[in-house]
Amino acid sequence: MTSAAKADAPLLEVANLTISFPGDVGLVPVVEGIGFSIARGETLAIVGESGSGKSLSALALMRLVPRPGRIAPESRVRFEGEDILGLPVPAMRAVRGAKIAMIFQEPMTSLNPVVTVGAQVVEAITLHESLSRQEARARALEMFKLVGIPDADKRLDVYPHQLSGGLKQRVMIAMALAMRPKLLLADEPTTALDATIRAQILAVIRDVAARTGTAVLIITHDFGVVNEVADRVAVMYAGQIVEEGTRHEMLRHPKHPYTQGLLRSIPRPEARGGKLEEIKGVVPRPGQWPKGCRFHTRCAFAYDRCVAEAPRRTAVTATQGVWCHFAEEGRSP
Ligand code: SF4
Repeated sequence: MTSAAKADAPLLEVANLTISFPGDVGLVPVVEGIGFSIARGETLAIVGESGSGKSLSALALMRLVPRPGRIAPESRVRFEGEDILGLPVPAMRAVRGAKIAMIFQEPMTSLNPVVTVGAQVVEAITLHESLSRQEARARALEMFKLVGIPDADKRLDVYPHQLSGGLKQRVMIAMALAMRPKLLLADEPTTALDATIRAQILAVIRDVAARTGTAVLIITHDFGVVNEVADRVAVMYAGQIVEEGTRHEMLRHPKHPYTQGLLRSIPRPEARGGKLEEIKGVVPRPGQWPKGCRFHTRCAFAYDRCVAEAPRRTAVTATQGVWCHFAEEGRSP
């Protein structure tokens, strides 16, 4: 692919991504046939409950699906137009960190407790770039300042246990951004933090992405996070995408009963002390997905067709699509 064609291609294109694990009677899909794309500088949120397959989908983009899981051969993941599922292992290693970086929900498990945080960032930089330690330390300091770590020069020399949870997560973001990746994958980056710190970390991700032009894929179960950072949203349920659209479309005009249910379960200030409306039941386990619409066992609007037939994508607008029979029939649930 020429460099002009690369520049025109979406930053990331995922098509027909299927991830399976061996079960008692053959391979069991955990993610099945999903597709999405991310433009340069854009933030996409993938939203769903635990067990929907969203975290595994993010790991697949780094080719880090845990064994014995496997990505089906018909799956396509293109980064800057290049098929990264077909890259040789050394080339893929170079993509990780340098072009696509990832931050996880629990920073403590990702930081080495016996090495100062500055040394860890310097090491990550020198692993991917031929900079001197002094140059790498200067880059680390620049990143610490960028993510709003106070007294950044002093904080380079402290150990992880000397930092609060919020500061540790800022260090992880600084480390991820130090290689100047084009795409940042953030898997539930604020789950372990309290509400105030959570808002600060989301603001850091939003501001840094805007300032550096880094695209972000954020994985979350929380529509509150979507409201803070996302440009576009894809909702996953039982290994499939069930609705996608812009943040405004998904927050203001959700069409899928599952998206509507997730939105009703956001804690709102006016509902403080009151009960949130939860979606009854749990996501069915892989291998036990019901026939027809996989959501029909929990959907208050399910009817005969939902049990018998899987819904196809219906375009609601140029940017919003929904997999629900109501939309196919031009009706609202
Ligand atoms: Fe509910 Fe049927 Fe739509 Fe599925 S297809 S979300 S069961 S109304």
